[in-house]
Amino acid sequence: MPVDPVPEPSDHPLPGVPDVHRRLVASLSDYAVIVLDPTGIVRSWNPGAERIKGWVAEEIVGRSFEAFYTPESLAVGHPRRELERAGAMGRYDEEGWRVRKDGGRFWAHVVITALHDDDGELVGFGKVTSDLTERKHAEEQLANTLALLRATSLTDALTGLANRRAWDDGLDRELARARRVGTPLCVAVLDIDHFKAMNDTHGHGAGDRFLRRATTAWRTVLRASDLLARIGGEEFAVALPDCDLPSAGGVGDRFRALTPDDQTCSVGVAQWDGTESADAILRRADVALYAAKRGGRDRTELAAAAPDARGAG
Ligand code: GH3
Ligand code: MG
Ligand code: MG
Repeated sequence: MPVDPVPEPSDHPLPGVPDVHRRLVASLSDYAVIVLDPTGIVRSWNPGAERIKGWVAEEIVGRSFEAFYTPESLAVGHPRRELERAGAMGRYDEEGWRVRKDGGRFWAHVVITALHDDDGELVGFGKVTSDLTERKHAEEQLANTLALLRATSLTDALTGLANRRAWDDGLDRELARARRVGTPLCVAVLDIDHFKAMNDTHGHGAGDRFLRRATTAWRTVLRASDLLARIGGEEFAVALPDCDLPSAGGVGDRFRALTPDDQTCSVGVAQWDGTESADAILRRADVALYAAKRGGRDRTELAAAAPDARGAG
C-alpha cells in the first residue's frame, strides 16, 4: 500500500504530492480537504476540516471517515457506496447532512476524487467538503416566503377564502377534472341581499364582520373537494364537483339558511353542460342569480340548460 503505515497529521498525505499543494491545502479554512486511504481511513486533515468538522488532526487521522456520517446513512451503507462510486467513476459528489465531532449536523457539499499512482493503482481518495448550512437555511427561508406569498396572493384577506384569482384557477382545474372523469359539476353564485343597506345602517366594520361570520357558517356545508371563493365585495362562488343541479340547488338553500343575522342572500346555480367554458358556466349562474334577485331575492334559482350544449366550448 503506498500510503504511510503510520498516519502523520495534516502535512503528510500521500507520497509524491508536491509541497506547494500541501501548503495550499493547509491554508484553506473554508473547505475541509482530507485524504482517505482506499478503505476510507483518514490520512490527512487540514485546518478547514478542523473548523468545519470539529476534530483536530490527532483525534481523527487513522480513524474511518464513517465518523462524519449520520446513523441513517451509515445504516444503509452510504459511505462505502460513495467510495465505490468514486473508485468506479473517478469522482463522486453530493449534498447531504454530515455530522460534526459534537454530534451537530451540517449540510455539506462533498466531492470525493479517486487518487491513482503512476501505474494507475488506486491509492486513496481526496475529499473536499464545504459547509452549505447557511445557504440551505437561506434557500428554505426563501422557499417558505415564496409559499407564503403564493398563498397570500390566492387568499382573500377579509374572509380567508380563495380569492378571484384562486377561483379562476380552481374552476379551470375542476372543469378539466370533470371533463376527464366524466362527472357532473355545478357552480353556484351567491350575493348578499341589500348589503348596502346593512353597511349604511351598521357601518362598514359591522358589514365586514358579517361577511366573516357568514363565510364561516357556509364552510360547514362544504365537502373537502368543493371550492368556495369570494369573487366580489359581497359576492361568492362555489364550485361543486360530483354534484348535479338539484343537489347544488340544495347546497344553495343550505347556504341561505345558514346566513347569519337574519340577513338574506340570493343564489344562482348552473350545471356544467360538458363542453362550455368557465366563463360560460359562470355567466349562466350569474343570469340565474339575477333572476333570483328579480324574483324577490332570498331564493335559489336554477339555470336553464346551456343554449347549445354541444356547440359551446
Ligand atoms: P342587492 O340585493 O341588489 O345585491 O343589493 P346590495 O345592496 O347588496 O347590492 P349593491 O351592489 O348595490 O351593493 C353592494 C354593497 O356591498 C356595496 C358595498 O357597500 C358593500 N360591500 C362590498 N364589499 C364590501 C366589503 O368588503 N365590506 C363591506 N362591509 N361591504 C362591502
Ligand atoms: Mg348584494
Ligand atoms: Mg353584489
